[in-house]
Amino acid sequence: MRTLFRLCPRCREYTLKDECPICQAGTKVPVPPRYSPEDRYGRYRRKAIYGE
Ligand SMILES: [Zn+2]
Repeated sequence: MRTLFRLCPRCREYTLKDECPICQAGTKVPVPPRYSPEDRYGRYRRKAIYGE
C-alpha cells in the first residue's frame, strides 16, 4: 500500500493535490532515500574495524 500524500518542495507541506495549496508549486511524491542510514553506519563500522 502506497501513500497518496505529496510533498511541496518549497514549503515542505503535505497535501493530496498536484499543486501546493499555499504556493501553487508542483508537489512531488516523497521518495525514500536510496541507502538506509543503517547501511551507511554498517559501512563505517566495517571501515573502523577492518580498515578497508
Ligand atoms: Zn508550497
